[in-house]
Amino acid sequence: MSTSVEQIKERLSIEDVVGSYLKLEKAGNNLKAKCPFHNEKTPSFFVSPDRSSYYCFGCNAKGDIFTFVQEFESVDFLGALKILADRAGVTLEKFTSKIGDKKERLYQLMEVATLFLQKNLESEEIPLSYLKKRGLTNETIKNWKIGYVRDEWRTISDHLKSKGFLDDEIERAGISKTEGKNTYDRFRGRIMFPIFDSAGRVIAFSGRILHDDGQSAKYLNSPQTELFDKSKVLYGYDKAKQSIRKFDFSILVEGQMDIIMAHQAGFTNTVASSGTALTIEHLSLLRRISNKIIMSFDSDNAGAKAAERGWALALSCKMDVKIAEIPKGFDPADLILADKNRFKDVIKNSIFLIDFLLNRVKAEITDKKKLWQTIKTKILPYIYLLDGNTERSGYVKKISDIIDIKEEFIWDDLKKVKLDEEFQTQNQTENKTIEKAIAEEMLKNGSVEKNLAVILAKQESEKIDTTKAREKIKNVIGEEQYKKFDTEYKMKINELSFEAEGYYEKVKEQKLQEETEYLILNLREEYFKKELEKLLMNLKVAEKEKTTEKISAISIRLKEIMQKLSDIKKEKHEVNKKVTIY
Ligand SMILES: [Zn+2]
Repeated sequence: MSTSVEQIKERLSIEDVVGSYLKLEKAGNNLKAKCPFHNEKTPSFFVSPDRSSYYCFGCNAKGDIFTFVQEFESVDFLGALKILADRAGVTLEKFTSKIGDKKERLYQLMEVATLFLQKNLESEEIPLSYLKKRGLTNETIKNWKIGYVRDEWRTISDHLKSKGFLDDEIERAGISKTEGKNTYDRFRGRIMFPIFDSAGRVIAFSGRILHDDGQSAKYLNSPQTELFDKSKVLYGYDKAKQSIRKFDFSILVEGQMDIIMAHQAGFTNTVASSGTALTIEHLSLLRRISNKIIMSFDSDNAGAKAAERGWALALSCKMDVKIAEIPKGFDPADLILADKNRFKDVIKNSIFLIDFLLNRVKAEITDKKKLWQTIKTKILPYIYLLDGNTERSGYVKKISDIIDIKEEFIWDDLKKVKLDEEFQTQNQTENKTIEKAIAEEMLKNGSVEKNLAVILAKQESEKIDTTKAREKIKNVIGEEQYKKFDTEYKMKINELSFEAEGYYEKVKEQKLQEETEYLILNLREEYFKKELEKLLMNLKVAEKEKTTEKISAISIRLKEIMQKLSDIKKEKHEVNKKVTIY
């Protein structure tokens, strides 16, 4: 085992593996990105090529290429091993045929069952013609490993037993079940759609009944097993993830047929909830790759409530949610079969969730009073879930235009919104960062303040006195700004130290102080330039108004600043001779 792992580690670097999932930026000796494991706007996820590891200062996620793939793809260690081995071109044969691992046995069992069911389908006219009628090609049937089981009590179990699997294993994999003294197959007389994990291994089945007897469920899914947790698996995710990354959005449909037809028609960034209620885990799988989601909605959908819950959940995950409305009388599979360009148009014409909701109530209700009541109870909760007041204010204005009430009223009601518990928890974790977000303005990447914070962090970690430097900074940016600066400095001290280590690993104390001086000069220059801009604007106004007193006052200050800027330039030139970095 260790040899496969070692081989993989030799062939794949951490920056390549993580970089294939996330956009990495350089940060000294390290690389950084927005963390895929928690919600954030500025990067606190760092990758260290030297140490072959990653660390997130926001949520403390850490590890190597294996843990990263495990977390990111929601697979176990073996799953990550398979994904990385495929990438590295390392064969795992010896390892996977080891019989000792109980879970590995179940994976093998599912593979054997899948092959058996695929073989069954080949010789069965009726299910094959059903699939063809729905528009599936032979290639698609093969790609999705679709199979069939006859309406008999123990066909799959008997086959598995003949291949050496035990009764207990067959039941634990969710293939058979026991009632009283009888053990029999769960799936009988059904077209079998394997459900894959993100490593592409079969972990469960969804069976569609062939002859509807009006009593059995149309679709039957495997129960929860050691391999299959329905709240964590999105149907088709293994096949869609690359495209979601490429197109930077995902399409969510409901049924198996919908997603399979979508892929066949080229919409390869489609996934399906496949009859299970959408969960936060499902959405975070998608959000890690792209924040944008288009959710298809059948207009004559009986499960509209469930759909609405899914929309709210996606918003509460701060995703960018659009709705694609499928025309009446169709589901995505039918629509694609009828004309795939119509489906394309539906996707193209998808609109932002809240606009979609507003359009809908506007079309239904004309009385303004009633309309406001409906918006208040049905739509404000969605607006409340939006990420930040800037986004919210756009919709507040829209609503105020629609029903002619003042924006203040809408804001008042917006503040009173009460969320269901499941959305609340999502929102709370987000709210914690609002305070942080305000302070973060100060330490934007690439700003002089940020560079100063990094170098202060380095000095303070080595017990070098920075009181003087801090005093100078305060003089330049003012008391109030300095408070913000220091607040955020304290909040981000871990991240800053990590960066400082990268930039200044072997830099001596004197050099550090010289560089601090240099950065403070830059800061002063920046602030004078800002003042300069402001003065020039005021000067224009004053000249228009012809207020001579103002004009002369501004001119005096302008002269002063020009002088200061030229002094700074000279000073910088002097220091520059000594400073190597920046
Ligand atoms: Zn994180």
